[in-house]
Amino acid sequence: MALQQTALIPDALRPGDDGYDDATQTFFATGSPALVVRPRGPEEVAAAIAHAVSRDLAVSVRSGGHSPVGHSTDTGGMVIDLRYFDSVEVIDEARRLVRVGGGATWGGVAAALSPFGWALTAGDTSDVGVGGLTLGGGIGWMVRRYGLAIDNLVGARLVTPDGRLLAASPDEHSELFWALRGGGGNFGVVIDFDFIAQPISTVQFGTVTYRLDDAGALITRWRDAMRAAPDQLSSTLALPPARSADEEPCGFVLLCYADGTEAGEAGEADIDAAIDPLVELGTVTMAEITECSYSEILENAVRPSGFRLVTRNALVSRLDDDVIAEICRLHSAAIPTAVAVRSLGGAFARVPNDATAFAHRDAEAMIVVLLMLPDTATDAEVSDALIPWQALSRRGIGTYINFQGSATASDVAAAYPPATYARLAAVKAAYDPENRFARNHNITPARSGAPTHV
Ligand code: FAD
Repeated sequence: MALQQTALIPDALRPGDDGYDDATQTFFATGSPALVVRPRGPEEVAAAIAHAVSRDLAVSVRSGGHSPVGHSTDTGGMVIDLRYFDSVEVIDEARRLVRVGGGATWGGVAAALSPFGWALTAGDTSDVGVGGLTLGGGIGWMVRRYGLAIDNLVGARLVTPDGRLLAASPDEHSELFWALRGGGGNFGVVIDFDFIAQPISTVQFGTVTYRLDDAGALITRWRDAMRAAPDQLSSTLALPPARSADEEPCGFVLLCYADGTEAGEAGEADIDAAIDPLVELGTVTMAEITECSYSEILENAVRPSGFRLVTRNALVSRLDDDVIAEICRLHSAAIPTAVAVRSLGGAFARVPNDATAFAHRDAEAMIVVLLMLPDTATDAEVSDALIPWQALSRRGIGTYINFQGSATASDVAAAYPPATYARLAAVKAAYDPENRFARNHNITPARSGAPTHV
């Protein structure tokens, strides 16, 4: 549907305006765009895009503002800030069909669904946006039980670069719908997403803190426990940066057990049998596992100040001994480095690789590192600091765009195997042939039906 555009661009902030500084700062970056627009409906989104096209402004789309590359702000361009697209609406209660605005946060979604006894598997952080997380895939606390966020997506509506409002689903613009599930913000501005929510009101959630006598042994035992775990159990093993010599090093096993059977709750014995192995991996210094509502387990992220944060990730097909040795090497490197290993498998792995644009379903785990450099670190210092990471990265089968703090051609190639990329490039050519939406892990539009690979 072609939209009736408003004559004026909506709610625009320019440098010097009240609120401009706040609107241009994101979790990882501070930008200086020529303007920030805050549309309130699809017509205003279309007007904003038309304005950017007419002045040849780069377009950044902002939902929750957590892009590790800083893609949702820019220098000299236009930011389309979706803060007013934050509704959560139940469309069909019998099907648990929920329509969520493209600028909502996952904390807002969890709070809105809680009274229904429902939840949507997404991420682990309350203020991360629905837009960015969903378009990249969405790996959350129930990933082994319900797959990625996109595995529960049944439709989306977006404003395309030429100002049309399109509905994408398995029945309409189905290739576009395939591409939206993992292909990032390449195709237009998604104003809302339709999900099927899960029948989850409470989960068993908690953290087990281990003394870190031997990081390799802890990771190996955690891996073995997760290989034997039921789908209901998802877990992350987190190694904080090595601290001062007088502090005892520790590792954390975070876990979430989500039952979700329509028939009723799993018995206490089933839950204990699933969780107990994660409490027996070494010397426990603290363990806190409780039943709580799903919305309670999402927390706001706090950005540590005084650091230049650099994040990278690798999806590994097997968390084998060599990979574990590389994780340990990296964690003990001179630069303070936090490592998180997220278990995958279960429902995540049962989706075929070509069913969505997120194509690495064979991964057993995702390894995410966060390097904490001084905030004065130069790009050259960042490159040096990443050298130890390369050895681990080479052992991966690919990358997840949402935890990748860079968006080079090789990052894009690591996220999308050649056949996936070719298909994305064809969709890009059909919906954004001029590459107006380029501030993302960018797909080059295929030319004359001949897809390219970076
Ligand atoms: P934004 O910066 O607002 O958006 C990122 C990009 O997505 C935009 O530049 C744009 O290209 C695109 N985009 C966003 N919304 C739209 C839209 N409506 N239409 C079109 N394009 C759009 N990921 C996980 O999978 N699981 C986690 O548990 C998780 N935890 C995280 C915790 C923290 C503290 C951080 C910083 C990140 C985390 N991530 C997680 C990664 C997260 O998925 C990405 O950073 C994602 O891009 C954030 O989405 P956002 O909407 O907040 O970001």
